[in-house]
Amino acid sequence: MKALSHTFLQEGFENYLCEEGHSAQEAQTEIMEFLQYDGDPYYDLGSYTTVEMEPEANELILHTIKKNLINKNEYLATTVIHNNLVKTISKLLHAPDINKTFGTSTVGSSEAAFLSLLAAKHHWEYNGMEGTPNVVLCANAHLCWFKSAKYLGITIQKIEIDHPNEYPLPQIINAVNAHTICVVAVLGCTSLGSCDPIHLLQDELLQLNQKNNWDVGIHVDAAIGGFVYPFLDHQKPKWDFKLSLVRSINVSGHKYGLVYPGLGWLIFRNIDYFHETLNPVYDYLNGTPQCPTLNFSRNSCFVVSQSFNFLHYGIAGYKSIIHSCLEKSRFLSAKLAESGYFIVLSTSDIPLVVFALKDRNDAFVVEKFCTRLRQKNWMLPHYKLPVKNPCQAMRIVIRNDMTIDRLNMLVMDILNTYKELF
Ligand SMILES: *Cc1c(COP(=O)(O)O)cnc(C)c1O
Repeated sequence: MKALSHTFLQEGFENYLCEEGHSAQEAQTEIMEFLQYDGDPYYDLGSYTTVEMEPEANELILHTIKKNLINKNEYLATTVIHNNLVKTISKLLHAPDINKTFGTSTVGSSEAAFLSLLAAKHHWEYNGMEGTPNVVLCANAHLCWFKSAKYLGITIQKIEIDHPNEYPLPQIINAVNAHTICVVAVLGCTSLGSCDPIHLLQDELLQLNQKNNWDVGIHVDAAIGGFVYPFLDHQKPKWDFKLSLVRSINVSGHKYGLVYPGLGWLIFRNIDYFHETLNPVYDYLNGTPQCPTLNFSRNSCFVVSQSFNFLHYGIAGYKSIIHSCLEKSRFLSAKLAESGYFIVLSTSDIPLVVFALKDRNDAFVVEKFCTRLRQKNWMLPHYKLPVKNPCQAMRIVIRNDMTIDRLNMLVMDILNTYKELF
C-alpha cells in the first residue's frame, strides 16, 4: 500500500482510488491538509454565497443531509416545511393570492432561471403562438440566462447598455415582438448591483400588450435583491408581484437568504403560468410525487436550514443583517472614494461595492493589483463591466460574515497595496 504523504492527492489521479483503502482518520487528514491550499472562503470577496451559518444550523444540516427531498411521502414533515417555505417566500414577494401561487426550491437561481424560461415558452405556445420564441434581456443579465436560452432554443434579444446604472427601456420595448415569451428584468445585477426600474417596464409593456393584443410578461431575476429589498427600511418602487405583469421571480436562498451554496427559489404568481405538463406526476416509491425541477434526488438540508433562518432571525433579524451589510458597504465605498485611488461605480441598495482603479483602466494593471492583494489572502475578482467602453471593475460583496475588524483590515490592505504598487 502506498503511504500517504502531503503531496499524495497532488501526485496524480491514480492515487485517488487505490486497491487498498486507508483508515478513515488518515483519509480525512490527508484531504483536510490538501484543502488548505484552497483560498479561505471568508476572504472570497467576490462571492455572494453564504459562508457562515449558526452552529445550530450546522447541526441541523448534518442531521438532514441524508434525507432525499424527492421522497416526499417518506419525509412528510420535510415536504410540509418545503411547501410552507414556498408560501412564505410568495408572501414576502407580495403574491396577490397565495392559494394560486406555485413554486419550488431549486439548486440555485440558474436552475430557477432555466425553469422560468421553460415555463414562459410553454405559456407562449399554449397561447397558440408558433415559430421561434425569443426572450428580451439586457447585457447585464447573468450568464445563466444566455445559457438557458441556448439550451432551450430560445433566441436572445440582447439589449446593450451604454453606461453603468442606465436602463435602456425604449430599446427593450422596441425589441419586444409577437414571438417574445417574456422580458427578464434584474433586481441586483451580478456585475454592478444595479436594480432595473421594473415598475417603468411594467407601464410600457402593459401599453404594448394592449396595443398589439399580446401577452408578454416579466420575469424578475432577484437572485441577489430578492432577500434584500423586502428588508429595506425605506420605500422602493414596486418590483415584485405587486406589478401585474411580473409572473415569476427567482431568489437565491444561498445568497442573502443566508443559506450555504445549493439553494434557490422559483415562485410563480399563478400556477397557470407553470403549465401542468411541466409538473408531471410520477408513480414513485410510496406515492405519486410531482417533480417540477430538473433534479430528482437532492438533499433536504438546505431547504431545512432556510426554515431555520426564517424561524431564528424573523423579519427583524433579516432587517438588521441587511442593514448592517449595507452600512458596511457604504463605509467601504466611502473609504475607497476618499483615498482618491479608486472610482466607486456601484450605487444601489445592494450590499456590494464595485470599483475601478482611477486613471488605470487596464486589465493588466488591475490583475497586478488583485494578485498583490491575494498575497494578503484576499481574493478580489476583476472583470469587464457589460457596458459600452467597459472599464475593468472589481467587486466586494459584503456578506453577513464580514466583521468590522475584518473590514478595517481589508481597507488597510487595499490602500497599502495601492501604495506599494503605484
Ligand atoms: C448568482 C446569480 C445568478 C445565478 O444563480 P446561482 O444561484 O449561482 O445559480 C443569476 N442571476 C443573478 C442576478 C445572480 O446574481
